[in-house]
Amino acid sequence: MSCVLELKNLGFVYGKGTPFEKKAVDNVSLKINKGEFIGVIGHTGSGKSTLMQMLNGLMRPAEGQVLLDGADIWEKPKKIREVRFKVGMVFQYPEYQLFEETVYKDIAFGPVNQGKQGDELDRAVREAADFTGLKPKLLEKSPFDLSGGEKRRAAIAGVIAMDPEVLVLDEPTAGLDPMGREVLLSQIVRYHKERQNTVLLVTHSMEDIARIADRIIVMNKGRLEMFLPTREVFARGEELEAFGLKVPQITGIMRQLKQKGIDVPDGVLTVDEAFSALLDLLQKEGRLW
Ligand code: ADP
Repeated sequence: MSCVLELKNLGFVYGKGTPFEKKAVDNVSLKINKGEFIGVIGHTGSGKSTLMQMLNGLMRPAEGQVLLDGADIWEKPKKIREVRFKVGMVFQYPEYQLFEETVYKDIAFGPVNQGKQGDELDRAVREAADFTGLKPKLLEKSPFDLSGGEKRRAAIAGVIAMDPEVLVLDEPTAGLDPMGREVLLSQIVRYHKERQNTVLLVTHSMEDIARIADRIIVMNKGRLEMFLPTREVFARGEELEAFGLKVPQITGIMRQLKQKGIDVPDGVLTVDEAFSALLDLLQKEGRLW
C-alpha cells in the first residue's frame, strides 16, 4: 500500500510568545495510505481541527512536516494553492460559504479555479452533485432556495468536484436531523468506495465512525494517543474514557454482557454484529432450532 500523507513530528502553537500561548498540536507523527477511510476522534479542544487545517496548508506548522505524496507541502510556499486542490477540506457548516447565483456555479467554483472547462467541468459538477445526492434540477436554483441539508450537500459537492486525492470532512453531519445524517454519511461512504480516494472524517459520533472507518486517529490534549484499526480502538474502552470519549453504545452493552460471564466476542461495533453474535450464542446453547 502506498502512503499518501505523512506527518512528521507535527506541532502547532496558538498565540506564541503571548500569555495565552497554547500548544494545540504536539509532536504528531503518522502515515496514511492511499484509499483509507480514517476516523478522527477526540474531546473538544483536543486539536482535531488544528491538525486537519495543517494537512492542506491552511495553517503552517510551528514544528515538523506534512508530506503529501512524499513531498513537504511547505517546500515551495508558492505552490501551496496546488496542495489545497489535492487535499479538499470541508469545514463545519460549509453551507455558509455558498455565494454564487446558482448551485451549479457554486459547485463549479473550485474546478473552474483548477482550470477545468467545457465538458470536463460539466462532468465534474454533475458527478459531484450525484455523489452528494443533489437532484440535477436543483443545480439551476439559487443556493439560498435550498433546504439546510441540500445546502450542506451543495457545499460538499463543491469540494468533491475538485477531485481531491484526500478529502477531509470536519463534522459534516453536525446540525442535521437523524435522517439527513444517515443519508449524507451513506453518500460519503459511496463516494469513498467508488472513487477509492482517501477520506478523513472528524466526528463526535462513535456509532458512525465505528461502522465506516478502517483506522481511527485518537487525539487528546494535542497529542496522538492512538492510531489503530477501528476494532482495536473500541476494544480499549477504558483508555478512551480517560480521554473523555465513549465506545459505541452497542460495544458497551456487549462488554457488560462479557463482564457478566456471557460468552460474546470482544470489540463488537454494530447492532448487526451484536445480533449475529447473540444468535450464534443461542444456537450453541441449543435454545434455537
Ligand atoms: P478540536 O478541533 O479538537 O476541538 P482545536 O484544534 O479547535 O480542537 O483546538 C485545540 C486547542 O487550541 C484548544 O485548546 C483550543 O482552545 C485552542 N485553539 C483553537 N483555536 C484557537 C485560536 N484561534 N486561538 C487560540 N487558541 C485556539
